[in-house]
Amino acid sequence: MNFEDLRLNKPLLDAVRTAGYSTPTPIQAEAIPLILDGRDILACAQTGTGKTAAFALPILQRLGSHLLPKRKNNGRADTRRISALVLAPTRELAQQISNSFLTYGRRSGLRHAVVFGGVSKHMQTRTLRSGVDILVATPGRLLDHMSDGTIKLDAIEVLVLDEADHMLDMGFLPDIKRIMKQVPQRRQTLLLSATIPPPIRELSKQILTNPASIEVARVSSPAETVEHWAYRVEKPEKPSLLCSVLEHTPYSKALVFTRTKHGADKVVKHLTRAGVTAAAIHGNKSQNVRTRTLEHFRSGKTDVLVATDIAARGLDINNISHVINYDLTTEPETYIHRIGRTGRAGATGTALSFVSGEERGSLRAIERMLRTPLQQAADIPGYVAPKVTDDNSGDRPRRSSQRNGDSRRNGDKNRSSSRSRSASKNRSSSNNRFAEKGRSTAKNRSTSRNRSASKNGSGPSAKNGARRQPRSDRSETRTTVAS
Ligand code: AMP
Repeated sequence: MNFEDLRLNKPLLDAVRTAGYSTPTPIQAEAIPLILDGRDILACAQTGTGKTAAFALPILQRLGSHLLPKRKNNGRADTRRISALVLAPTRELAQQISNSFLTYGRRSGLRHAVVFGGVSKHMQTRTLRSGVDILVATPGRLLDHMSDGTIKLDAIEVLVLDEADHMLDMGFLPDIKRIMKQVPQRRQTLLLSATIPPPIRELSKQILTNPASIEVARVSSPAETVEHWAYRVEKPEKPSLLCSVLEHTPYSKALVFTRTKHGADKVVKHLTRAGVTAAAIHGNKSQNVRTRTLEHFRSGKTDVLVATDIAARGLDINNISHVINYDLTTEPETYIHRIGRTGRAGATGTALSFVSGEERGSLRAIERMLRTPLQQAADIPGYVAPKVTDDNSGDRPRRSSQRNGDSRRNGDKNRSSSRSRSASKNRSSSNNRFAEKGRSTAKNRSTSRNRSASKNGSGPSAKNGARRQPRSDRSETRTTVAS
């Protein structure tokens, strides 16, 4: 299927071509015609499946087709009222969706804006007063503008709730209900969610009319292009293991998850001391700092982003080759969301989890959900997995994705285990040695050497970042059109 088959107009076809998309992802192929026909949608789709374009493209086409001729006829600016509203749980996701409207809607003649908290309202108010057709918003700031009288929702034709499960997790349900009261009953509603737990099912019954259900890959099925590895390590050794991993692994961008904000700051300090360019993003940082930090990470100024789960969902940053679970999550679904930051749109990726003794229960829960044990990693020179006696989750080094069989990597593993064996003699000093070595050389080696390894196509993750077909091409899509 091509984008041409989806009844999109020329400016939008040009926009997707300029964005570099050759074929629609499954959710785009399913959703675009239905949305163009005015149907309500309940879509179960994770980020990384191309879901933003799946709703943004048809919204731009539908609104453009009737708003622009109307405007031409009476030529009055006050005909510009908010016609489409997209609600998103986080500021970062709202900004990303807004960027997508900018990318796809450059030649649409429609105006869009984004509003979220943590930044001054003043500029937002000015933009809103000047007239906006499509508004992307987080619920809290939208309500602020509504109570200021800057926003009226009585002309809404299309309402989108993106990452609805995340919005409910964050306690936005009362806000969503307040917003819904101001939106006309007659409208098109699109509800997108990574999972469809009972509260989402309930909400969908209340706000959707005769929806078409679309399902693209379950949340319990991570991208097939991601390899999962687990390192057994005791908590105090995690900082040195991280330095060691970054020193010896070719990576393009690495996203490190910690459990707490304080933990994220500590990891950044440690990495900085080791000469790695790293920054933290979490809820205690101001919005301006969060935005700047993300920009630096996107542009490659910062090699490593250390985040709490605020960044686990929705973030769309190209070429994150490695996601490192410095602290394992206790929620298996959060594991999927975290590693969903790599292996996006068909690229390959690597997920590394540092598992301390007390985190073994969480590891087992994740493995149960993945229905396979994580591969036990031992291929960092000198890194020796601690002996474990109370675990039955499998000492056998099994691949989580057997389909990605790679004899070179297995060869590396064999070599590394003999390295590890000899290193085990010096085990007591090995981790400290890493810390020291990391301090002096991590930046030079892990950036220049590893980057050149990536360029040369050598090294275990040299393939990371390569753009393949979007991963969802390999995922199953089910569309149910309710009667
Ligand atoms: P999303 O799921 O909307 O966050 O999109 C994930 C990534 O997929 C974004 O970087 C998009 O630019 C990219 N993308 C969206 N649609 C396509 C497509 N048809 N082909 C290739 N990449 C796409």
